[in-house]
Amino acid sequence: MARYLGPVCRLCRREGMKLFLKGERCHSEKCAIEKRNIPPGQHGRDRRPKLMGYGLQLREKQRARRVYGVLERQFRNYFEKAAKMKGITGETLLSMLERRLDNVVYRMGFGTSRAQSRQLVRHGHIQVNGRKVNIPSFEVKTGDVIEVREKSRKNPTILAARDATAHQPVPSWLEVDREALRGRVIGAPRRDELVQIQLNEQLIVELYSK
Ligand code: SF4
Repeated sequence: MARYLGPVCRLCRREGMKLFLKGERCHSEKCAIEKRNIPPGQHGRDRRPKLMGYGLQLREKQRARRVYGVLERQFRNYFEKAAKMKGITGETLLSMLERRLDNVVYRMGFGTSRAQSRQLVRHGHIQVNGRKVNIPSFEVKTGDVIEVREKSRKNPTILAARDATAHQPVPSWLEVDREALRGRVIGAPRRDELVQIQLNEQLIVELYSK
């Protein structure tokens, strides 16, 4: 599946807020938002326009998409699936994104960012219920055991990520044994623990419902 390969700090500057796309750097003073929070491009220094209606909805959708590293087509597919399910569509959408395997690996602290976690999955370092899974969009279910594969438990990147994310809180729907590099899904993602940024999913629903 395709993914965005351009400079990621640019995406944060476009949204005017930290999207936490780069792991440790996002918590340091090297963060581009800390240094110069202006939109990218020739007219970046001009005043940010006040957004209303469609503009607000679009930015909200772009933020969610960028946080989870999902391209437009796939994001819309998530929405269409969420719209057909019972419950509040916006919350269901976020819950589905949150249950992506790359996000879960990140939430468990085996990768410093979703992008790094995605790479760990792609490179075959992760297994679910004892079987290798190399699909970042794989959707985990309650009861699934996610762990770093035996052969990768000494991988310096994973060990460094585990140490670097020691301060990162683990959401209540996951249970993690950091030493064993193993975790379990023990419930459904809770809305108040979903994304690290402010996000109004209702605007995304309004955008796609036009
Ligand atoms: Fe870059 Fe992370 Fe700062 Fe975003 S939050 S600008 S990705 S360092």
